[in-house]
Amino acid sequence: MPFDSLGLAPALVQAAARSGFSTPTPIQAAAIPAILQGRDLRGSAQTGSGKTAAFSLPLLQRLTEQREGPRRVRALVLVPTRELAGQVGDTMHDLAQHLPERLKMVTAFGGVSINPQMMSLRGGADIVVATPGRLLDLVEHNALRLDAVAMLVLDEADRLFDLGFAEELGRILELLPKRRQNLFFSATFPPAIQALADGMLRDPAIVDV
Ligand code: AMP
Repeated sequence: MPFDSLGLAPALVQAAARSGFSTPTPIQAAAIPAILQGRDLRGSAQTGSGKTAAFSLPLLQRLTEQREGPRRVRALVLVPTRELAGQVGDTMHDLAQHLPERLKMVTAFGGVSINPQMMSLRGGADIVVATPGRLLDLVEHNALRLDAVAMLVLDEADRLFDLGFAEELGRILELLPKRRQNLFFSATFPPAIQALADGMLRDPAIVDV
């Protein structure tokens, strides 16, 4: 199945091709159409499965379709580590390059000074990729608001838990609008992760690869 049969805009198919993606991986083939339809999704996928592009391509498309008014954070991607934040941010940046409309993306993680991240959030952002603790710090500094988030991605949810982010995650979920699209990815689904997914997801498409 080629990339251009998944419902993606030509600019995103081109960006995928430029990144060297000619054929969708199984998780991409299954997840992209469901996400474009606005469905919640539960994906069990390891690193290396192509899950980053599986959520990034349709997320970018939905944001470009829906832009109106001032720039507000409409997509939030929560990741467990600084390394993953960097990787997801880079992938999204590459894939967004040829879109007719510029989406502003900010990556935020702990362990470095908060000031440059606060500066980059001035004037708003469309997409924030962040680790949970630093995201809450930024909210507490009034550097961003989460009340317009329409898409939430939890990437590597099991590692978010293992690294002790459960409490932060709960606080973040309370700051988000109730009505939103949730994309939940985890390599494993032990009971605590399954319970979190069950509580968050509404009639999700389930993709196991
Ligand atoms: P991920 O699972 O998102 O960490 O992606 C693993 C690697 O696969 C990354 O280096 C991607 O650039 C690459 N990749 C993702 N999708 C595709 C695809 N459709 N074809 C070839 N490589 C891909």
